[in-house]
Amino acid sequence: MRNSKSKRVLITGGAGFLGSHLCERMLERGHDVLCVDNFFTGSKDNVAHLLDNHRFELMRHDVTFPLYVEVDHIYNLACPASPVHYQFDPVQTTKTSVHGAINMLGLAKRVKARIFQASTSEVYGDPEVHPQREDYWGHTNPIGLRSCYDEGKRCAETLFFDYHRQHGLEIKVARIFNTYGPNMHPADGRVVSNFIVQALKGEPITIYGDGSQTRSFCYVDDLLEGIITFVEGPADFVGPVNIGNPEEFTIRQLAELVIDMTNARSSLIFNDLPSDDPKQRRPDISLAREKLGWEPKIKLAEGLRKTIPYFENLVRRGQA
Ligand code: NAD
Ligand code: UDP
Repeated sequence: MRNSKSKRVLITGGAGFLGSHLCERMLERGHDVLCVDNFFTGSKDNVAHLLDNHRFELMRHDVTFPLYVEVDHIYNLACPASPVHYQFDPVQTTKTSVHGAINMLGLAKRVKARIFQASTSEVYGDPEVHPQREDYWGHTNPIGLRSCYDEGKRCAETLFFDYHRQHGLEIKVARIFNTYGPNMHPADGRVVSNFIVQALKGEPITIYGDGSQTRSFCYVDDLLEGIITFVEGPADFVGPVNIGNPEEFTIRQLAELVIDMTNARSSLIFNDLPSDDPKQRRPDISLAREKLGWEPKIKLAEGLRKTIPYFENLVRRGQA
C-alpha cells in the first residue's frame, strides 16, 4: 500500500545522468518510480542499484511511441543532452523532443497527471541578452547543427503551453542550464566530463575556440532540489523557470580549475569552435528565488570535488 502522499512517478530518460539521480530522489521521498528509457545515452548501470527496490520499475521504451501506463506525475527528461549525441541522429532528436512531448502530454491528459518538461537554456540560442531571463525569446538558428535540439525543445515548450491552455493540463516547464555530476556518460562529449577524463588520463585538454566563451555550471543536487520544489509546489506556477547556477566561468577557467584539482600535467590544446556554439550563458534566477525560495548552494570547486571520484573510478576500471 502507498501512503496518501506517495505518488506513482514516471521518469522518461530515467537511466540517464539527471534521470538516474531523480529516480533515487523520488524513491527516497516514498514515491513509486517507473523509469522509462531507450538506453541511447543512458545506461542500466546508472540505476542497477535500484532494481531490488520493489517501488522501482525499469522499462525499455522509446518515447517517440505512445505509452499506456497509470501515473500521477510525469518527469519528461528523455532526450540526448550532449551536442555530440544529439547531432548523431538529428531527426531522431527532434522526434524525441516533439513526438515524445506529444505522447507524454497525451498520456498526462488521459490519466490527469501533472507533467514536467526538462527544457533547456538552449531555447535562448546564442543569446543577445545577458544574463538570460525567462521573458527573453531567444536568438536561435532554425537550420543549424544545434537546431534539432534547440528548436525541438522550443516546440516542446509550445506543446506544453498549448496543452495547458487548451486542455487545462497541470504543466511545469523548467529551463535547465549546464549541469554536471556523477553518472554523466564519460564519452558524452560535454565539457565537464571531457575535461575531467582528459585530465585524469594526462591527455591534453581540448578547448574549442579560444576558451573565452562562458557557461554557468550547476551541481546535480542543487538542480534537482530546484526541480522537485517546483514540481511538487503549487499548480498555478507553471514556468518556464530558469534552474541553474548563475556563477559564470570561461571555458578556459574551467580547464585550469580541473587541471589544478586533479593535479594533472595536461596541456591545453585549442580546436575549432563548433558552429552556433553560444558565446555566453548565465541564468537570471530571480524568478526561481522568488517563486520557489530556491538558489544553488554548491560552488563549482566543491561540485567538481564530488564529481572527480566518479570519473577516477571509471578510468581505473578502464571504462573511460
Ligand atoms: P542524458 O543523455 O544523460 O539522459 C537522457 C536520457 O534519455 C538517456 O538515458 C537516454 O537514453 C534517454 N533517451 C533519449 N532518447 C530517448 C527516447 N527516444 N526514448 C526514451 N529515452 C530516451 O542527459 P541528461 O543530462 O540527463 O539530460 C536529461 C534531460 O535534461 C534532457 O531532456 C536534457 O535535454 C535536459 N537538460 C539537461 C542539461 C544538462 O546540463 N545536463 C541541460 C539542459 C537540459
Ligand atoms: N567545449 C570545449 N571542449 C570540450 C567540450 C566542450 O571547449 O572538450 C566547449 C563547447 O564548445 C562549449 C562549452 O564547452 O562552448 C560547453 O559545451 P557542452 O557541450 O558541455 O555544452 P553546451 O555547449 O551545450 O553548453
